[in-house]
Amino acid sequence: MHVLLLGGTTEASLLAKRLAGDDRFAVTLSLAGRTQKPVAQPLDTRVGGFGGVQGLAEWLHANGIRAVLDATHPYAARISANTRSACATAGVALGSVVRPPWQRQSADTWIDVGSADEAVQAVGTSPRNVFLALGRLELAAFASAPQHRYVVRSIDPPKDISLPPELRLILARGPFEIERERALLAAEKISVIVCKNSGGPATYAKIAAAREQRIPVVMIRRPEKPIGHPVHTIDQAIDWLETVRAHDRAPGSLRGV
Ligand code: NAP
Repeated sequence: MHVLLLGGTTEASLLAKRLAGDDRFAVTLSLAGRTQKPVAQPLDTRVGGFGGVQGLAEWLHANGIRAVLDATHPYAARISANTRSACATAGVALGSVVRPPWQRQSADTWIDVGSADEAVQAVGTSPRNVFLALGRLELAAFASAPQHRYVVRSIDPPKDISLPPELRLILARGPFEIERERALLAAEKISVIVCKNSGGPATYAKIAAAREQRIPVVMIRRPEKPIGHPVHTIDQAIDWLETVRAHDRAPGSLRGV
């Protein structure tokens, strides 16, 4: 059965490794193309947008796709909305990997905000040392607050955006260990962190280190992310694919999958 795996996450990489050796499925992995050198995966891989809902629906049809597994990032809401519409149009089953958000603990100081612009407001007007654990799209908002000193960590250098003048760029790819996060926060005298509630273990260490050092975290809320059939583990995702495959062999019985 032909499957489209929408990736860019740890879960998608784990699924890629599992599905590569599984001859029940012919899987294409799709990446947005946000990183210059993505970690190579053992699957046929395509990179870049499909051209909205219609482009994706046509791609699904042209490639004989029977199931889509959406394993995109919790903040990648547009691709998930497009995917749900395109799958409905094309009559393709949709499964979505759901990654729970981190939960606030009693010793955490989190300031919930709805956007990067609101995060800028929450950091305030007095100069501070700010750790921005954000992607290129959210960084641009901080150009309007040049009074702070920033530490930015990203996989590639941010391109084509204006950045605040006092900025130290650290190029690194997760996962990140707690010792390293503790050392970074202390060495840079960080007094506030701005990040997304990505969930999962790979980038949680900064939250734990912030708790220990009593550093507040400005947390940009998750967007509404449309989903199909929810799966919570790699095994559940593979079981769901097998269910679709079995139904697919008995035409007309896809409903409810
Ligand atoms: P998005 O806003 O959901 O998607 C924007 C467009 O990018 C989509 O409409 C689609 O273009 C294309 N796209 C996204 N994911 C794709 C995929 N897997 N395969 C093919 N095309 C894809 O997502 P975003 O702009 O990538 O990121 C939004 C937020 O998610 C940011 O906060 C970012 O930091 C975070 N994030 C994203 C990724 C990632 O791998 N994308 C990883 C980590 C974090 P078309 O409409 O042309 O099809």
